[in-house]
Amino acid sequence: MIVRLNALSKSILCAIALGGNLNNPAETFDAALTRLNDHPRISVTARSPWYTTPPMGPPQPDYLNGCALLETTLDSSELLAMLLDTETQLGRVREVHWGPRTLDLDLLLYGDSIIELPHLTVPHLGLGDRAFMLKPLADIAADWVDPRSGKTIKQLLQTIDCSEIHLAVN
Ligand code: ATP
Ligand code: CA
Ligand code: CA
Repeated sequence: MIVRLNALSKSILCAIALGGNLNNPAETFDAALTRLNDHPRISVTARSPWYTTPPMGPPQPDYLNGCALLETTLDSSELLAMLLDTETQLGRVREVHWGPRTLDLDLLLYGDSIIELPHLTVPHLGLGDRAFMLKPLADIAADWVDPRSGKTIKQLLQTIDCSEIHLAVN
């Protein structure tokens, strides 16, 4: 345990979003967080309750959504690679854009960094207007300041419609 704390001593706090609408998303989310936490350079420190939300994109089942906080010594590209690998390991197949999936893992915040790379934009571009990201994130990181807008997650949440996101049976 001491070794692990030392290994994470220069860690960055990150927020990720979890989403899924095929098979059993709650089980998949648990498996994803376990897999991430098992990585020697990632520690999962919190998770939100899960919510159900209507789908974006083509007609498909409702989504289960939530957020988690991680501490990591990985850089942002390494962390994204681990998220994408975890999606694949847990059965995600990429077919239709915004189509149904077992697991979607998005990197919402990486410390207070603004990252603009061809393969990675942080804060996630949906963060400011997606209830299924802001609502669960506000449960675990209400005072985190979005470095793009300068507003806290709690403030951003007050500007959007949350009527279609409902607490799931957790
Ligand atoms: P959206 O990003 O609008 O929520 P999506 O999650 O369905 O849509 P994906 O097909 O999962 O999109 O991801 C496509 C690509 O988005 C990924 O391969 C990744 O390179 C890129 N990407 C850019 N920024 C991020 C980010 N912050 N988190 C996750 N993926 C990102
Ligand atoms: Ca997404
Ligand atoms: Ca994604």
